[in-house]
Amino acid sequence: MIHVVHHPAYVAPAPARSTYRWGKNGLIRDLLREGGGALTWHTPDPMPVRWLEATHDSEYVAEVLEARVPPSKTRRIGFPITPEVATRAAAVPGGTWLAAHLALEHGFAANTAGGSHHALHDTGAGYCIFNDLAVAATRLIEERTVARILIVDVDVHQGDGTAALTAGHPQIATYSIHADKNFPARKARSTLDVPLADGIGDDDYCATLETTLSPLLDGFAPDLILYQAGVDPFADDRLGRLSLSLAGLERRERLVARLVSDRGIPLASTVGGGYGDDALEIAHRHVAAIMTLGDALSYRSALV
Ligand SMILES: [Zn+2]
Repeated sequence: MIHVVHHPAYVAPAPARSTYRWGKNGLIRDLLREGGGALTWHTPDPMPVRWLEATHDSEYVAEVLEARVPPSKTRRIGFPITPEVATRAAAVPGGTWLAAHLALEHGFAANTAGGSHHALHDTGAGYCIFNDLAVAATRLIEERTVARILIVDVDVHQGDGTAALTAGHPQIATYSIHADKNFPARKARSTLDVPLADGIGDDDYCATLETTLSPLLDGFAPDLILYQAGVDPFADDRLGRLSLSLAGLERRERLVARLVSDRGIPLASTVGGGYGDDALEIAHRHVAAIMTLGDALSYRSALV
């Protein structure tokens, strides 16, 4: 049984003048529904304002929720903030937080949105509005749900916002493996950054991931992992610079699943980047990640 978090507001209508390709989250939901896997669906509450404000500037939170984000910020985000987009922005971190709780109970859970790792303290950036990873991690720690959280970010772009928003927090560590020459040009400092040269393929990627992530898992000993499972290291991704095959992406998820299950660490996944003209193909890649992780990590109830 795989626990999946989805909110109807994730499927917001595309705002005008958007360079972001909308509709991915609805396709992910549909593919999961049609896939015939044993899934349990959960609907999150929106993230309460006080917890958005625990990570983000309160004026920026108000600008988003009241759909009055100034053009200087919407240009950085990549689309205007309509009331529907604002509702979605509050629902997504609620989903990541709920997925974390479900993962603690069931070993694994997936949010069908999220991974908004470029969002910063007082502005969004790079198609990200609120940083669901940092917001959820901060709330989980401050509510004393867990003592240590590791955010593992395998999106092809560095998790710069997550690193900046959690920097210096002794109970939150960040790991980012990314294409060094990709966006953002100015990198933040994660607890551990693994910059990769352009064009790296499956074997080098997986070997580097294993040799860098394993010591961090052992050293930091997290109680929970929030996993940004961006699929943009795929060779044909429009915004990636790496050369992973579909089999390589699946290998990556199996590797991460093995590294955390060997250590008994629950994992909550979010989606992340994935860009190209065919939204359905990209949704398939996200669903493959969810199903691979879910198969490997969800606790099996005893058969009677
Ligand atoms: Zn990305």
